[in-house]
Amino acid sequence: MGAYFLHLKTYTQNCLGEEYESKWWPQLQEMVGKEYLDPEASHRTHRPIPTCLRNHALISEVNAGRGPIHMVTMEAFQDPHLEEIGWHNFLGMTVGQAVLWAATDVDPKNENPELTTSEPYVMGSHATGCGAWCSGPEDVSPPEYFWGYNRMTTVEGLFGAGDAVGGTPHAFSSGSFTEGRLAAKAACKYIDDGKAEGIVVSQKQIEDRRKEIYKPLEHYRIYRNEITAGSVNPNYINPRQGLDRLQKLMDEYAGGASVNYMTNEKLLHIGLKKLKLLEEDFEKIAAEDIHELLRAWELKHRILSSEAVMQHTLFRKETRWPGYYYRGDFLKVDDENWHVLTVSRRDPKTGEYTMEKAPCYHLVEDTE
Ligand SMILES: Cc1cc2nc3c(=O)[nH]c(=O)nc-3n(C[C@H](O)[C@H](O)[C@H](O)COP(=O)(O)OP(=O)(O)OC[C@H]3O[C@@H](n4cnc5c(N)ncnc54)[C@H](O)[C@@H]3O)c2cc1C
Repeated sequence: MGAYFLHLKTYTQNCLGEEYESKWWPQLQEMVGKEYLDPEASHRTHRPIPTCLRNHALISEVNAGRGPIHMVTMEAFQDPHLEEIGWHNFLGMTVGQAVLWAATDVDPKNENPELTTSEPYVMGSHATGCGAWCSGPEDVSPPEYFWGYNRMTTVEGLFGAGDAVGGTPHAFSSGSFTEGRLAAKAACKYIDDGKAEGIVVSQKQIEDRRKEIYKPLEHYRIYRNEITAGSVNPNYINPRQGLDRLQKLMDEYAGGASVNYMTNEKLLHIGLKKLKLLEEDFEKIAAEDIHELLRAWELKHRILSSEAVMQHTLFRKETRWPGYYYRGDFLKVDDENWHVLTVSRRDPKTGEYTMEKAPCYHLVEDTE
């Protein structure tokens, strides 16, 4: 959608064919605070208007009963060149959207397609600036951002790049592979400097890890005949069941689509409690085949990511991105206290989180 708006100059309308975004700005200012009125500080006055605020207007308009929202493609698509670019955009990036249009018989040249928000995706630093906390480059990093090797995470000797690492407002394809190259060079330097010497992985460590990874297959083999009804087995959950449970939990407690992206402290605490139960049940996950084994481990990683999302949303007592999510108990953008990065540590043994604030320095000057 972002590419469409920027590239093809598309815009949106409510069901009556009206422009609606501007109508919601006064309400938004009231809700999130007057920084939004201040041309120096606000993201409201930026052009183009940030996606989260456009989402906010869209959600509000639909709630006011004037949905669906349409993306106006019919104008741009009359130009054959723009039409081609439009299809390139979708076929290259989000082929599922093109498939949906084909499946619902919508040709964006002759009909303005419906536009809506969906569940929030965790896309690492591409969309949310989140990810592993890693060292910056030595030439521009202030001391808080630098610990010896560019792109090295806080785990000594482990390097990261692209969507995996945080602290970047927007990781893109080209940025990700450039960063991958920087990370690889820094990792080579780390080895050349002799820092990796003396690393020994024992046969026992390998064997233990192998057992842990394949355990879901073993679990299935032992208990598969104890199904009581349908796919219900008192001895295990399968990856699909676990995923459905995680989706629902995150949706209802961590500001998902079904609650209009709203959450608060109480909801997040309940969500975290339920997530712990899911984590316990994950110990008994069963995988029917190697494909399900992959899904099982994806689920484990999603559970960990979800926990981090909830812990960070809980810690940050403000609504940084209205339209992406709302903290109902702190509906303001609070630059005074929260113009910071939030850093978490998860104790691998106890699963306990510790949270802290880290300064957010603007290293690149805005030249506009
Ligand atoms: C909908 C959408 C639209 C986007 N649009 C654009 C755009 O227009 N322009 C742009 O520049 N960027 C765009 N991006 C962002 C861009 O795609 C990402 O920033 C970039 O692809 C990240 O690259 P990466 O190598 O860090 O991660 P990825 O491309 O996610 O690569 C990580 C790889 O690791 C693999 N993996 C994960 N776990 C394991 C494991 N345990 N073992 C082995 N392999 C594993 C995954 O399968 C994956 O292949 C978009 C992203 C999305 C989601």
